Amino acid sequence: MLPNTWSVWSWKAFNQRKGQMAKLHFYYSAMNAGKSTALLQANHNYGERGMQTILLTAALDDRAGRGVIKSRIGIETQAVAFEKGDDLAEIVRAKAADQSIGCVLIDEAQFLTRKQVSELTDLVDHDGIPVLAYGLRTDFRGETFEGSQYLLAWADDIREIKAICSCGKKATMNARVNAAGKIERDGNQIEIGGNERYVSLCRKCFTYSEKVTI
Ligand SMILES: [Zn+2]
Repeated sequence: MLPNTWSVWSWKAFNQRKGQMAKLHFYYSAMNAGKSTALLQANHNYGERGMQTILLTAALDDRAGRGVIKSRIGIETQAVAFEKGDDLAEIVRAKAADQSIGCVLIDEAQFLTRKQVSELTDLVDHDGIPVLAYGLRTDFRGETFEGSQYLLAWADDIREIKAICSCGKKATMNARVNAAGKIERDGNQIEIGGNERYVSLCRKCFTYSEKVTI
């Protein structure tokens, strides 16, 4: 029997089109810029169009409860908590086996490993699933996180969500401060549970200030 060339062609065209549409997006910002709010809004928009989404967040950030994405304006939703060793492509494919997935949304994407960012590119390029990752660009010393480093390197679309420094300029840095408001310059990269200890500042205030008002 002759193969049905039209259907073979259209299936290929569909997959190519699907592949072209899917992208890895990285929305980065300083702290308290409203990343989780933006993520939850995007999730809501997909839901309104009747599309299923998968939400992921870092297990180590359990300030709002394990696997909970909580915005500062009060909205929250349940997500899958990912650990450093988890295969994100496997997690998404297991869920996508029962339903068609419109997109994957990731909060606290700075905590992804290089391997996990690579898994996300595979979901985009191989499976045609768009991925929207939201995270901090830099830590309290001004160094990139591993997840941010590879998202900045490999994402198709990179956008900044803007935060404002107390001086009125755009805040791009995250200062860690002690109880007296003094900016700390050394310590471990990750210190969860002290959100109030971080202040987003412009680079000038971050570099030249010794103390900030919390
Ligand atoms: Zn400033």
